[in-house]
Amino acid sequence: MIAHNLGYPRIGSHRELKRASEQFWANKITRQQLQEVGRRIRQDNWLTQQQAGISLVPCNDFSLYDQVLDMSLTVGAIPKRFLPLLGQPNVDHPDHLTLYFAMARGYQQDGLDLTAMEMTKWFDTNYHYIVPEFSADQSFTLLSEKVFTEFDEAKQTLNTIPKPVLLGPVSYLLLGKEKETGFDRLDLLDRLLPIYEQVLTRLQAQGAEWIQLDEPCLSLDLTDQQREAFATTYTRLRHQFPTLKLLLASYFECYGANLNLAIQLPVDALHLDLVRCPSQLDDILQTDFVNQKTHLSLGVVDGRNIWINDLEKSRATIRRAIQAIGQERILIAPSCSLMHVPCDLNSETNEQNLTPEIKQWLVFARQKLDEVAALVALIHQPDNPRVAEVLAANQAALIARQQSTLINRPTVKERLSRLTEQDAQRQGSFVQRQSLQHERLQLPLFPTTTIGSFPQTDAVRSNRAKFKKGEQTLDQYEAFIRLETEQAIRWQEEVGLDVLVHGEFERNDMVEYFGELLDGFAFSENGWVQSYGSRCVKPPIIYGDVHRPKPMTVRWSKFAQSLTKKPVKGMLTGPVTILQWSFVRDDQPRRNTCLQIALAIHDEVIDLETAGIGVIQIDEPALREGLPLRRENWSDYLKWAVMAFRVAASGAQDHTQIHTHMCYAEFNDIIGAITDLDADVITIETSRSQMELLDAFARFDYPNEIGPGVYDIHSPRVPTVEEMVELLQKAANVLPTRNLWVNPDCGLKTRRWPETTEALKNMVKAAQTARELV
Ligand code: GLN
Ligand code: ZN
Repeated sequence: MIAHNLGYPRIGSHRELKRASEQFWANKITRQQLQEVGRRIRQDNWLTQQQAGISLVPCNDFSLYDQVLDMSLTVGAIPKRFLPLLGQPNVDHPDHLTLYFAMARGYQQDGLDLTAMEMTKWFDTNYHYIVPEFSADQSFTLLSEKVFTEFDEAKQTLNTIPKPVLLGPVSYLLLGKEKETGFDRLDLLDRLLPIYEQVLTRLQAQGAEWIQLDEPCLSLDLTDQQREAFATTYTRLRHQFPTLKLLLASYFECYGANLNLAIQLPVDALHLDLVRCPSQLDDILQTDFVNQKTHLSLGVVDGRNIWINDLEKSRATIRRAIQAIGQERILIAPSCSLMHVPCDLNSETNEQNLTPEIKQWLVFARQKLDEVAALVALIHQPDNPRVAEVLAANQAALIARQQSTLINRPTVKERLSRLTEQDAQRQGSFVQRQSLQHERLQLPLFPTTTIGSFPQTDAVRSNRAKFKKGEQTLDQYEAFIRLETEQAIRWQEEVGLDVLVHGEFERNDMVEYFGELLDGFAFSENGWVQSYGSRCVKPPIIYGDVHRPKPMTVRWSKFAQSLTKKPVKGMLTGPVTILQWSFVRDDQPRRNTCLQIALAIHDEVIDLETAGIGVIQIDEPALREGLPLRRENWSDYLKWAVMAFRVAASGAQDHTQIHTHMCYAEFNDIIGAITDLDADVITIETSRSQMELLDAFARFDYPNEIGPGVYDIHSPRVPTVEEMVELLQKAANVLPTRNLWVNPDCGLKTRRWPETTEALKNMVKAAQTARELV
């Protein structure tokens, strides 16, 4: 039985790579210095894995930005606009670093103005990859030496043969996009495969034995043509490389309808994500697979979450597999790359954040290696006293977790069990509510508002940092926040907005802020996970029943409302988004945790209303990203996600206007669920797609009020009055005028004041013009 790993976090245990990349982009360190930081992280990672007992250690899982972008560089899929950089003297070095970062981040220099490649979510994770761009005349060529260099480096460091990781050719194409019409990217396989063959030939010559080919698209719904592509590709590779050991890895979901295909592919090992899909082991063991020679890689240690493994349960799983196919055919691994969990629990030293009691239930990437090794030891040397000790400690921690009073709050569980459909209902219908709200709020047609946050200036950040470090008292900090809020209210009145916001100056992050005020959440100090490039996030850890000990936002909302006669929106983060951006407990269904959060938000809504807040926004920007990978599971998810939002909103009486906000532009396939949310007002992103997406709302006769974003807040560009009027007219052509709001795309947190002022002044003028035109 072989212990192996699919991938290790590459940001460094103290985000060394983040710092080095940002310094490099700011011209503060050289290419060589950046590469040196990368080399050190890789070596640390390899040795850490080897010392932990992983015998087949991955290489080429490292990346300076993104593994999909690495593949684009490896196969020379360079979009045409970047070609001027390729081979340019003094710019393009053998490592192609300038080109590489230009593709990731755009390039504005030497008279060139190249927009970055698109970025999108990696399956259902919070990681974003750079989307490959393909043209009809696409050609490929072996361009980057990265995989070969890293193989040699790893081999030397480890003194054994590492296992190169490559994104497989079919998933590589499927994850990309055609940039022109008239061809299908899968048609490019014949042109692409020769490059993969060159890569494998060279790796084999360097001494590689196992190659890990990641084909995570096998976790998605595939067409027959796509399945066919897998079959031809792997038959061809097998034919060309009869002796190279190919390990095919998919993860994040069951193979499902692709299982038959997967077990017939002529590879040497098939990886199973047994955390996301425990049942597929038995499915496979009932097939003819048992009589083949193919190895099984059992992904029993959770690569997506941070809870300790149930070693006894995993051992039982492994034993079932051994009984069916024998030890020689088994590899033990995490369920997917460990890049989706933080590096090392040992970096957590602050006992106020993670108490020893909570800490004993957690494992980060480093500790997950120990779990893989322990599972191998449990099979190989069950009688070894040290091994028995590890198992006993593990079982004790699991029992402690089950029984902990920290986790279990009977009142919360009981309240959840009493929850019915009735608790997810507002009192009146939308029509009834709308007339009460209009009467109360007395807003003009095309009312103007913003999404919540205003610029987080250096002053805001530095005051918060000082307060957190203890260099400022709570009184001082709050006095500062009061001042900022007051200025924001005065400023909004001057600009002439109709529904104001308090500005969110007191919040570091829209999830962390609530997590810190709710029971059942813990925070790490160093639990960073790569989100994209140098950007890392530190997700809260939801470990127990969620409970709101006291109001969370009422004081600031009430203060802001006291400063003005205009309505000030209360601002809350919705239950689905809080769930989605956290590490969620695995000892109860996600649905239950989400509904517990929903009840806490429900209570907050009631308190805001009681404090005189007449408009309350419950942000759900992550509702869409929570969608399961397979469509057959969508309706179940959407059912409880919608229910959670409605439970949160149902705290409000009919005359209180509930807003929600979602900052993305794909609604076509979930418009039914969006309608079911029954928010009085929804604000969405539209400006970049020029209101096209409004079609979904129009076609579906979306009944409630809607604020299509009239300008893109991601750019500092100030939109003109005319272009916004035009967008509003487009909207008015497809939706009832009485239902339309005027607002930017998203919060203004990342913008600066000068452009924010200009943009919002223009937006207010655009609304005035639109009113005159009806
Ligand atoms: N209210 C939040 C803000 O304005 C919403 C952010 C978001 O949608 N991601 O910052
Ligand atoms: Zn947004």
